[in-house]
Amino acid sequence: MTDAIAPRTNTSLQDRARTIMPGGVSHELRYRPTHPVYIDRALGAEKWDVEGKRYIDFKLGAASQLLGNARPEVMEAVAHQLSKTPYSGDCHALEIEWAEWIGKLIPSADLVRFTGSGTESTMLALRLGRAYSGKDKVLRIDGHFHGWHDMLLKGSKPGTDMPPSQGVPGAITDLTVVAPPSLDAIETCLAQDNDIGTIFVEASGANYGSVPLPDGFLQGIRTLATKANKVLIFDEVITGFRWSPGGRQALEDVLPDLTTLAKVATGGLPGGAVCGRRDIMDLLDPGKPLNGYAPPVSHKGTFNAAPLVAAGAIAAMKLLATGKEQAQADAMAQQLRDGFNDCFTRHGVMAHAYGDSSTCHLYFEGLSIAGKSAAEIRAVNPALVNGLRDGLLKRGVDFMSFTSCVTSSMHTAEIISEAIDKFDETIKDLIQTGVISK
Ligand code: PLP
Repeated sequence: MTDAIAPRTNTSLQDRARTIMPGGVSHELRYRPTHPVYIDRALGAEKWDVEGKRYIDFKLGAASQLLGNARPEVMEAVAHQLSKTPYSGDCHALEIEWAEWIGKLIPSADLVRFTGSGTESTMLALRLGRAYSGKDKVLRIDGHFHGWHDMLLKGSKPGTDMPPSQGVPGAITDLTVVAPPSLDAIETCLAQDNDIGTIFVEASGANYGSVPLPDGFLQGIRTLATKANKVLIFDEVITGFRWSPGGRQALEDVLPDLTTLAKVATGGLPGGAVCGRRDIMDLLDPGKPLNGYAPPVSHKGTFNAAPLVAAGAIAAMKLLATGKEQAQADAMAQQLRDGFNDCFTRHGVMAHAYGDSSTCHLYFEGLSIAGKSAAEIRAVNPALVNGLRDGLLKRGVDFMSFTSCVTSSMHTAEIISEAIDKFDETIKDLIQTGVISK
């Protein structure tokens, strides 16, 4: 048990964590062979660990904190709601206001249902797709990530159609068809397999855009889905409210049938949502029974639309609706990508920083990712991933995952320039130690 006077260091906490939590962590990507950093507090574009060390934050709550860590407007709304009730398990006015915001901002959202997380959103959307189409199979794109549940795990690791986990039944994975991000290949799959009823796409391309979709892909898949009468689902768990106030679909002017949301959509608090076409979402309405089922599609969840989260999310929506937050985060990501590319040029490293919106991805195998598959883009040498992460952490910079990161509207030109300097020192180190070859 906790010893109040024991020193709280990253290593002592890890020792304690490993005795009670598998690997000492609550999420496998937080695991580090030595020890993770234990964050004590976060504000704006920065955070501090239990030893008082400061980090420039490009992880930002796994891309949920577009508005910056602990944004005062959101925190004040949460604190106010906490004084009333965090959660009672009842209907409440805030969930309606939050749903109205989503309905106003996301172009395809006729109706909204709240969930407990992004994973729960993709589970529910798939159940709706299956019920509406009457077909069990789902087509998903190689390398796209839709959460950790059984139904969409196969294909999340690029280049293989084995799920990256034991314990996933073959009977489930047999219902998941993995296709490359090629409209021709998808059209062929749909023509060959009449049991596919639903199509899932990560609206940014795999891994929040580290594998961007070909130009016109979202419009093209919309046309294919309409022609073949399939339910088209855009996973906007990362792109929703980040790419624009209306997500990627508003930017591309293309409407999916259903959209999955979480992260920014919840004001960076725990939760998620599914929204979409009225006739499909109506399957969740207990007042509209079908074939003896009321509601036709069942969905529960203790913490769906918890008032504490709804209060913070509404405060976030008011800021996100203006588009100013996204514009600032985008400008900071552009400055970061430019600075990283200048650094690569300065040191003669054949690498490339790229990304859409407020993201930045690094590719270390050449000056362009054009024509590369998801498996090729994501096959980063582990020594380099670890060296980069450790080198940056040592200097007080935290990336999100692998060689990718995101910015927030609280990043400033000064903070970005400081991060670029620290990145430069890290790259120099990795060249000197032979981890990066020129
Ligand atoms: N979909 C996408 C595109 C994601 O990036 C994620 C998580 O990173 C999920 C779904 C799952 O969301 P959650 O981690 O809230 O379950």
